[in-house]
Amino acid sequence: MAEPGFFPEGARLAVLTAEPIGRPLDYLAPEGGCFPGAFVEVPLGPRRVPGVVWGAGDGRFDAAKLRRVARVLDVPPMRAELQQFLIRMGNYTMTPMSAMLRLATRTPGLFEAPGARKVYRAGTGTPDRMTEARQKVLAVLADHPGGGFYLGELAQLAGVTPNVVKGLVAQGAVSEIEEPRDLPYPTLDPTLPGKVLSGDQAAAAAALRGAAGRFGVTLLKGVTGSGKTEVYLEAVAECLRQGRQALVLLPEIALTTEFLARVEARFGARPGEWHSGVTQGERRRLWKMVAENGAQMVVGARSALFLPFRDLGLVIVDEEHDGSYKQEEGVLYNARDMAVLRASICGAQVVLASATPSLETWVNAESGKYARLDLHSRFGVAELPEMRAIDMREEHIESAHWISPTLVREVVGRLNAGEQAMLFLNRRGYAPVTVCRACGHQIGCDHCDARMVEHRFLKRLVCHQCGETKPIPTVCPACGVEGKLAPVGPGVERLAEEVAERFPTARVAVLSSDLFGSARALKEAIAGIANGGADIIIGTQIVAKGHNFPRLTLVGVIDADLGLQGSDLRAAEKTFQLMRQVAGRAGRAEKPGLALLQTFQPEHPVIRAILGGDEEAFWRAEAAARQAQGMPPYGRMAGIILSGPEVQPLFELGNELARRDAPLRRVGAQLFGPAPAPIARVRGRHRVRMLIRADRTAPLQPAIHDWLRGVKLPNAVRLAIDIDPQSF
Ligand code: ADP
Ligand code: ZN
Repeated sequence: MAEPGFFPEGARLAVLTAEPIGRPLDYLAPEGGCFPGAFVEVPLGPRRVPGVVWGAGDGRFDAAKLRRVARVLDVPPMRAELQQFLIRMGNYTMTPMSAMLRLATRTPGLFEAPGARKVYRAGTGTPDRMTEARQKVLAVLADHPGGGFYLGELAQLAGVTPNVVKGLVAQGAVSEIEEPRDLPYPTLDPTLPGKVLSGDQAAAAAALRGAAGRFGVTLLKGVTGSGKTEVYLEAVAECLRQGRQALVLLPEIALTTEFLARVEARFGARPGEWHSGVTQGERRRLWKMVAENGAQMVVGARSALFLPFRDLGLVIVDEEHDGSYKQEEGVLYNARDMAVLRASICGAQVVLASATPSLETWVNAESGKYARLDLHSRFGVAELPEMRAIDMREEHIESAHWISPTLVREVVGRLNAGEQAMLFLNRRGYAPVTVCRACGHQIGCDHCDARMVEHRFLKRLVCHQCGETKPIPTVCPACGVEGKLAPVGPGVERLAEEVAERFPTARVAVLSSDLFGSARALKEAIAGIANGGADIIIGTQIVAKGHNFPRLTLVGVIDADLGLQGSDLRAAEKTFQLMRQVAGRAGRAEKPGLALLQTFQPEHPVIRAILGGDEEAFWRAEAAARQAQGMPPYGRMAGIILSGPEVQPLFELGNELARRDAPLRRVGAQLFGPAPAPIARVRGRHRVRMLIRADRTAPLQPAIHDWLRGVKLPNAVRLAIDIDPQSF
């Protein structure tokens, strides 16, 4: 009897490849036949490329002309559930299927024969002589004690030739082994006891356990330190007891180390880890083990959503409001929303954890679409920090200084008490603008619509859009006058100078992502601070996320008004979230905390909402405003980004599209633009944006599809569709 869906030898089938073709191509099944979902190698022109058996061929083609699948690859087949997810996500985000497959198979070496590669890790021997190149290799290996590097990857990361690695192998300082075929992860034991939960926590954990084993979304809301992690680990335990797999998404790689340690403490072993900092060999291993049930739990970045889980039963999205869940390059998607989609297909539970949920999630909980659990207080005796504004109009501050006398006094008080203070400024570098005092010229990036930011630590000007750097000039490029260029405004590096001047005996740590060469260096710095290695912490938004500093009792926000500028409709929501999040850093242990917000507009409704603490009132007001304008989540939005080397053709195309917008109007959608995109030029490419707004029930994607059908893009012009854009 034929097995269900089996394609016997010579049957017509469709194979999807990751080639930029967009759709599956028809082939004949190979000798011995194959199953749907099998990874195969097919001839394509003169080449052979990997692909996945997508379904039955459609019979339109002459069988005599079809080519045969070359062979079935030794890779676990793709499950129907993952295929469905890729199809539905592709339809939602309007992404060609080939690009979806690329997302799901990005792991290098995936399609090679097992054992074809060697993997590298630190050895025990000492090299006869140490060179700079060798040192670089050993440093990279020390950053990844688990090893699992491929040769090319290791050499590239270290910035050396593969021969340097080979030389170290010959001396035993680097160990080289054949990649093992199977290497399951150590077993997590969900029967180990967790912490004794408080009343609120225990009730939330019980509710999550009750909802386990089937699709459903729960917002787990609670201030930082209220024990959300402890609670959702109980949902993980239940999922593991049911023999299903759990996925935890974190917004920031720097948070994984601390989290892995907590999982190990709870379940006796470490889960699989998936993000850009994990070696390629390790990623390939996890990909395979996830498919074969050799990994019960994965902790990772948004791309972990595309792993081939054998039986995914739970997805946690921690800090679900975090902007970094939105992928802004290549395939544009929001990992939180796609997590819900995937879970709905495979019958998994979803937990969205946050102290300050996104408005979308808050509304979904309000309407009853999502369940909601609240943790009302911090764990232990720690109180929520008191929050106050410092009215900067009343403070006397010297020029080129940003810490008000009131804030200085408070910091001194903490230092005297042996406690930590944190100063928050969401601006990397030394100064955001460099201005010529002779002609007023501001130094901009040559490739982007952005000003160059002075980074004194790097001794260069840096473009935060494209990463381009240049030396800090001494002569104004506009007027040629020498010695008149001056930094204007503060970045964290400049704030550090002021701190050194005002608190000369304090030990100061600056946490800004660009000041650390590696994720490990950043992690070490964070651990050092947590252990009391600093009195004053200066940080950008990386300090807002989840780190635990037990002795921190004061948070000073240098510029609480920063996020309120600009026209983004999400500005209020974002500022509210960020300020609450930052303030939540203070007073986590026995000591109560204080958060002080320096502001020039203490009467601004958002600042008042942040200080007032009536969060639900803030969300209700925001929701009402969005509803009145028909904006998300009450209406739907899509962005169309046209980009190219010249700006004129972009507007011409945009205007042409705007003239023939009947397919959009037919579904009641409105088109705005073309207008310069929020970032109007990046890496030398101009960007023009059109925004589409529609009612929630409108068939937006099919309408966009009709509208753009047959559009001819001028040379070098690209068109990207952004469903649910972050800024509007
Ligand atoms: P959140 O995820 O909401 O920020 P965490 O789960 O990280 O909160 O909890 C904050 C701190 O309090 C952690 O160090 C955690 O281990 C501790 N904690 C929370 N709940 C308990 C509990 N029931 N028993 C012991 N420690 C707890
Ligand atoms: Zn630039």
